[in-house]
Amino acid sequence: LEWLYSYMIRLRLPGGFLTPEQWVGLNEIAEDHSTGTIKVTTRQTIQLHGILKSHLKPTIQAFNLQHLDSIAACGDVNRNVTCTANPSESPLHKEAYELAGKISEMCLPKTQSYYDIWIDDELLIDRKAEEDPLYQDRYLPRKLKIGIAVPPNNDVDVFINDIALIAIIENDKIVGYNIAAGGGLGATHGNETTYARLASILGFVDTEEKVLKAVYEIITVQRDFGNRSDRKLSRLKYTIDKLGIEQYRTEVEKRTGFSFEPAREFKFEQRKDRYGWTQNHEGKYFYTIFVEHGRILNTSEYPLKSGLLKIAQTGKVNFRFTCNQNLILADIDEKDKSDIENILTEFGISDYTNGASALRKNSVACVALNTCSLALAEAQRYLPSLVTKIEPILEKYALLEEDITIRMTGCPNGCGRSPNAEIGFVGTAYGKYNLHIGGDRLGMRLNTKFKENIGEEEILETLDKLFEKYVKDRHGEESFGDFSYRYLQTIT
Ligand code: SF4
Repeated sequence: LEWLYSYMIRLRLPGGFLTPEQWVGLNEIAEDHSTGTIKVTTRQTIQLHGILKSHLKPTIQAFNLQHLDSIAACGDVNRNVTCTANPSESPLHKEAYELAGKISEMCLPKTQSYYDIWIDDELLIDRKAEEDPLYQDRYLPRKLKIGIAVPPNNDVDVFINDIALIAIIENDKIVGYNIAAGGGLGATHGNETTYARLASILGFVDTEEKVLKAVYEIITVQRDFGNRSDRKLSRLKYTIDKLGIEQYRTEVEKRTGFSFEPAREFKFEQRKDRYGWTQNHEGKYFYTIFVEHGRILNTSEYPLKSGLLKIAQTGKVNFRFTCNQNLILADIDEKDKSDIENILTEFGISDYTNGASALRKNSVACVALNTCSLALAEAQRYLPSLVTKIEPILEKYALLEEDITIRMTGCPNGCGRSPNAEIGFVGTAYGKYNLHIGGDRLGMRLNTKFKENIGEEEILETLDKLFEKYVKDRHGEESFGDFSYRYLQTIT
């Protein structure tokens, strides 16, 4: 007998898209092989947990039948490419989504061993003859993340990526992209050489060909210059800080054969998802469902998973995932809208989406305990109840409608992006968190540690005092993040 190992499988879904047929397949695979819960991640994809070792191969084979794979969803390679969530919102969003697909393809490892190992046990080609010009014989020093934002929405939290592309729109056309590099939120408790960092802008490039070339060579510089002796210091952000942004840029330009132009102006106006119904320029309808921390499951009060299965079985909607862990029912024809609306009502989905407070809708949490082996504390199982206790405090100060971002992770690895929230919690031990404040609402400024290793009682007391100060000293429409940033300047 061997240990009862269990695993997580994460799909590669650049831009986060599934057809209704694929959703039905996913639902079945989740039931047959995992805990049954479908988790929407902060990188716009899906992961299943609790897959026993003997179920690994059948799970991957079942996904393969749905034309889905998990290649490069983990490991020291480029991960799932994220992109502003709704590509049907305008022709520009579609263009950015297609670019995400091209970058994903370009950065896929060239080895076909995934299929040998997981699908059919047949050696398709001579492994030694496989060449991979990007990863060569050594892959990257660590994982690498790429995101694409289409202003004015920063729903992808673009600056947390190793490579961040911001579409520059002039006269209703994407004329190119500002390219930034060196974002990443992971750190290690007690190791001051590790830190969260937002990406620094290298400059602007105009054509798609140049964008792809620039992304490719940013990766090759990281491949060749990244730290391979200490994994804690091996992300691209540390390479940039070691070389300096100018030298990194120069090395990339030497390899691309062209120079970055000066960055162009852009403006983000929001980072949240647009819940409920929207209609696009082609007359198609979209419904964004609030999925608390991306957990799709059935409970006695809220059968979300069954409702989504029934919707998928109509074959009338596509499924899109957002980096805020939500789900968009997409591309719905006007004639089908009422059928979908009826199912949303029948399963309580529209009521749940409409009824959640602004704080809850702006909350993100990672998996953490009891599923993630790196977790020191709870996150997705605890944040909902903490928000329930914070809501009355907000109500006391008439702040319930404020779009305050609140995020929690079970360790400092940052999967739930807590360093980039207005209120961020980082788990330190069971029931204990570092409380960070002062991040901005749009994802352009990281927060700062305010209290260390505190439990629920102190969290609630601290937030109560901060909200009291906020309503008293707020400048006009100042966000909570900007207020607390200003407040932090006065006490340090
Ligand atoms: Fe696990 Fe830490 Fe990532 Fe949360 S932030 S999922 S606890 S590694």
